[in-house]
Amino acid sequence: MSKIETKCVQAGYTPKNGEPRVVPIAQSTTYSYDSTQTVGDLFDLKADGYFYTRLANPTAAAPEEKLTALEGGVGAMMTSAGQSASMISLLNILGAGDHVVCSSSIYGGTFNLFNVTMRKMGVDFSFVSPYASEEELNVAMRGNTKAVFGESLANPSLAVLDIEKFARIAHAHGVPLIVDNTFPTPINCRPIEHGADIVVHSTSKYLDGHAVALGGAIVDSGRFDWSSGKFPEFTEPDKSYHGTVYTRDFGKAAYITKARVQMMRDIGAAPAPMNAFLLNMGMETLHIRMERHCANALRVAEFLSDSDKIDWINYPSHKSSKDYELAKKYMPNGSCGVISFGVKGGREAAVRFMDSLKMASIVVHVADLRTCVLHPASSTHRQLSDADLHACGVFPEQIRMSVGIENVEDIIADIKLGLNAI
Ligand SMILES: *Cc1c(COP(=O)(O)O)cnc(C)c1O
Repeated sequence: MSKIETKCVQAGYTPKNGEPRVVPIAQSTTYSYDSTQTVGDLFDLKADGYFYTRLANPTAAAPEEKLTALEGGVGAMMTSAGQSASMISLLNILGAGDHVVCSSSIYGGTFNLFNVTMRKMGVDFSFVSPYASEEELNVAMRGNTKAVFGESLANPSLAVLDIEKFARIAHAHGVPLIVDNTFPTPINCRPIEHGADIVVHSTSKYLDGHAVALGGAIVDSGRFDWSSGKFPEFTEPDKSYHGTVYTRDFGKAAYITKARVQMMRDIGAAPAPMNAFLLNMGMETLHIRMERHCANALRVAEFLSDSDKIDWINYPSHKSSKDYELAKKYMPNGSCGVISFGVKGGREAAVRFMDSLKMASIVVHVADLRTCVLHPASSTHRQLSDADLHACGVFPEQIRMSVGIENVEDIIADIKLGLNAI
């Protein structure tokens, strides 16, 4: 199975003779065995099999294997939301007293998780520009730095990460690069091919695609060498798992196995089987949805850039973008469906534009198949003054449009209603 479109449809679940063609929903917390020896072997990780849905579930295994195939990794673990995927991706390799270098252009929820909650746990973060030079990145690295983190295509700034540069610096310092690949999805960008070691996702966005199920995922490339001495938790016996040595016992799958049997065991941010089923179904059409999202968004970007009521647009796959070259390199077939633009006339004009749309709905969500819009200044960033807004790269006239997969003429007709109201 070599082509990515085929993997979307076929990978992750292969029924045996007479079994359901579609992955069944294993709505069960527990699994039945007929001998204590078998259960003992499962707990010793000597035998493969399910024993408790907090650790693994056959329905979740399907999208996990599909995503592993799409990203080109050795294993994946679903989590209950993108937030828990990001947290576990780090807690799996560090603890109090450690440090992370992180792109400053990341999802607001991730920023709070790192900058507030994980700081309370004693983990320190340095936030660097996604456009930082190698010298600037080198300066940010410390002796206790355990990871570098960034978003391939940042939400909401749409900055494109120079994955190869960030990977080079991380590896020069003996630490992994973790990339949140939520916005482009593996259809448009595969960070592991460019040197990323771990990929995380909020599957709540395009992977699900229908805005029906929260979820997250961690994918392990299997390429990072944990045995340098910087990560003793991987090379010394895990007392909480009767002496398991992850690199010795699980080889290339050391990271993702530890994430499951240690982190998920203790934290319990496991996906619901129903949500895993919905995610799997969503991913079956990911390739054709992403193609349409990108084609529609590019048409919308071209339409907006020709309008005299628009002040600026930000779409990395449009030639006007400062990230156009990076986007061409890392996401040559398209980036995603999300566009930011500023209308002339500031906050008031933006509100009038938004309130005049008939089809596009005003929602906080992004990246599903229905066109939707958000005015950050009066919603997610409502508490901030115009001066504070500028400081965090959000502008009063800014509208974020998540272009859906409807007929693009209908999307543009709706935008015209908004522009006519300004
Ligand atoms: C939404 C989002 C998250 C958080 O995911 P949830 O599933 O909402 O917890 C993380 N990273 C990015 C880039 C996102 O867009």
